[in-house]
Amino acid sequence: MSPGGIHVYHHPRTLDHDPGPAHPEAPSRVRVLLAALQEGPLASRCAFLEAPEASRPWLERVHPGPYLDRLAEVAGAGGGRLDADTVMSAQSFTAACHAAGAAVAAARAALDGTPAFAAVRPPGHHALAERAMGFCLVNNVVVAARWALEERGLVRVLIVDWDVHHGNGTQALVEQDARIRYVSLHQWPLYPGTGRAEERGVGNVFNVPRPPGRPSAEYVDALDAAVREATDGWAPQLILLSAGFDAMAGDPLAGFTLEPNDYATWVSRWRRLGAPMASVLEGGYVPTRIAQAALAHLAAL
Ligand SMILES: [Zn+2]
Repeated sequence: MSPGGIHVYHHPRTLDHDPGPAHPEAPSRVRVLLAALQEGPLASRCAFLEAPEASRPWLERVHPGPYLDRLAEVAGAGGGRLDADTVMSAQSFTAACHAAGAAVAAARAALDGTPAFAAVRPPGHHALAERAMGFCLVNNVVVAARWALEERGLVRVLIVDWDVHHGNGTQALVEQDARIRYVSLHQWPLYPGTGRAEERGVGNVFNVPRPPGRPSAEYVDALDAAVREATDGWAPQLILLSAGFDAMAGDPLAGFTLEPNDYATWVSRWRRLGAPMASVLEGGYVPTRIAQAALAHLAAL
């Protein structure tokens, strides 16, 4: 890996999570993304590292033990449907544990001086403490945030969520914890129906709901303004990016208009905050577009 390197955390077991043949959250999303990183212009800057499995104590800072046991049981029984669009296969719990472990590993790398990306699935930002939803089983980014607070002694962690859907799970998990600030840009109205600007937690939640179909510069500036507000007089020690790529033009699940360079613009602007950055994949349902956007944003890290 050359100077200016990036750690990319992944685990092959995360590709075994199979929500079914017609499901948009397909293994090809990450397969195409990894191929683009391994064969594209960033290859010489990337170190590809196997993600650890999240330890039980890391997970239990976010999800109660009985909930985790139930996920393991469903997987052990060969899988099952947890809600209208959240489906487990036999390998799904193992995949989720590696996804959360990748998020922690990315946070650790960032704090140790190397920007990092967790190329994971299933995604996490809809997962509540005791409820899987919206393709998500374990809230990867909150597991990483809590790890940084408890094991590295941080007191200010910023989560920026640019997935086109509101991260209701992330908000619910952090809205009483002033050590974490959560900023989300999302389409409104849209699944899951949370994320109004009035939802402020303990003053640590900054929601930016926006209608579809606006020029991308409006979305870029709106999220940047919210990040400015969230970090005014509050310097984050770590920035975790909840990096969904379904806000891109052409995504089948939503109507935002972002292009790959918009993600690079955000990352470049937030370097002014002087905090290490780790990025964790969330949604995004056109594999080639996810790959383009991930390349652009990682190039800017
Ligand atoms: Zn999404």
